[in-house]
Amino acid sequence: MAQPDLVLSRYLVFSETTYRHPGGRHLRAVFHTGRARTLLLDTDTAHTLVAGPGPAGLPVDEQLRLAELGLLVPADTDEASEVISTGEQAAGDTRTRQFVIMPTAYCNMGCGYCGQEHRRDTPATRPTRHRDAIATRVEHAMAGGEHDNVVVRWFGGEPLMGYAVLRSLSARFVAAAAHHQVGYSALLVTNGALLDARKLRTLHLDCRVDQLEITIDGPREVHEASRPLNSGQGSYDRITAALRAILADPDLTGLRVTVRTNIGVHNADQATEFATAMRDAGLADPRIRFYPAPVHSWGNDVSDVRLRRRQAAETELRWYAAYLAAGLHCRVLPTQPVRVVCTAASRHSEVIAPDGRIYSCTEQPLVPGFTDQHVATVDTAPAGELRPAGRFDDWYAGLRSGETGCRTCPILPVCGGACPKLWREGAPPCPPLKDNLSERVDLFVRSTGLVPV
Ligand code: SF4
Ligand code: SF4
Repeated sequence: MAQPDLVLSRYLVFSETTYRHPGGRHLRAVFHTGRARTLLLDTDTAHTLVAGPGPAGLPVDEQLRLAELGLLVPADTDEASEVISTGEQAAGDTRTRQFVIMPTAYCNMGCGYCGQEHRRDTPATRPTRHRDAIATRVEHAMAGGEHDNVVVRWFGGEPLMGYAVLRSLSARFVAAAAHHQVGYSALLVTNGALLDARKLRTLHLDCRVDQLEITIDGPREVHEASRPLNSGQGSYDRITAALRAILADPDLTGLRVTVRTNIGVHNADQATEFATAMRDAGLADPRIRFYPAPVHSWGNDVSDVRLRRRQAAETELRWYAAYLAAGLHCRVLPTQPVRVVCTAASRHSEVIAPDGRIYSCTEQPLVPGFTDQHVATVDTAPAGELRPAGRFDDWYAGLRSGETGCRTCPILPVCGGACPKLWREGAPPCPPLKDNLSERVDLFVRSTGLVPV
């Protein structure tokens, strides 16, 4: 059979640097965004592919080897359509159902860049009917026989301000999952200020929270200024103590933690100080993963704090480099493709606000100007049905038709399109990765011990 013409995959990002292998060969690195993998090619091969005659300039067996690795594809392959279709299938996958639940509308912090409006009303103030409706909805999802797994993401406000609600709902979810023999796991997004060793045990061992996402915005003084508690007290020492408590408790080895730092003009230059402080606090441990997240607008004005695009890309690189230098754990490069960009792109995910409204997008509840964009309420939505359609359920059709710039973007497989809501508000949400991927490849390759020539 004739060999099909092979061309370079559109999902390759080459580093510009040449590295010396310990055996003496010279290598170039390439990141395959479709497979979220870094590959090393000898410089002659890389040159032939990128600057020379292209794949046809390589021996056939070498072409086939590179095709196996996904670097070359048949010339008639529509890779973008394949990526979009794979995402669409994943969004329609019934095996996992996700509920993002906000147990409270209140937060004990007053971060200047936050786009939410916090109030003190919770389901706890309207106890049983409301809480029952949420529990019934999740229990129906478990009982329906369609889903193998139910995942709950506790989100806020500050979810631990609704700790009693979180605990009582978790008890029902855990019991129902056991009864109906479906998988159950939970993730908690928290500012961390209310965590202590005892709560951590309850959350992990009783409430089955197996992932925590905690925010620390810099070394102590920077963090306290950026994320002030309404009480006027500090939270940095409490958060770092809680993180150490996780590492010290042998019953919490299954609890994984990510520490996010919201990066803006207020802390962009604090990378080394922060990474050193985290290391000195005893947090250089594989169970704690750090990442920087540039501050963005939720519809609020963050122009005073937000970094410009190029600055955000450079800053992110410096933060990753500082993590590595301090021995902290992080993922410099994506480790898997993003199939479903967010809750809003799948009807198998929904967001339940503290007032019982159901949304498709996490940045509609509590955000002024968006709170009336709910698709139902827990009282009126049929408990056994998926949420009604939201305004981003046609996301994959939009990608396919070229509504955004994503269809032709080389990092679509690891970005997913970032945020349907921002695209439709006319604010392209491209992450810094779009601008700094080849430098991040270099950072990663150097971290493996290879030396630039
Ligand atoms: S549309 Fe954007 S804001 Fe809404 S859930 Fe998705 S990523 Fe978040
Ligand atoms: S959001 Fe931007 S970076 Fe992400 S896939 Fe779309 S165009 Fe590319």
